Amino acid sequence: MPTQDTNFDLQRAELEATAAALGLRIATRCKTCGHWLTSPASRAIHQGPRCRAQQEARQ
Ligand SMILES: [Zn+2]
Repeated sequence: MPTQDTNFDLQRAELEATAAALGLRIATRCKTCGHWLTSPASRAIHQGPRCRAQQEARQ
């Protein structure tokens, strides 16, 4: 039986495939500055590389 994470990954993969087929890009907003993010790494953490670097520098 698949775990919830597996289902989520599957749904995400299907969404990515559907978006690609339609010529769309999936984007989410940076939780810090509200900038639109399209790279998978940034979308995964809902934060852009610049804001992430600033946050890490403050810690
Ligand atoms: Zn940001």
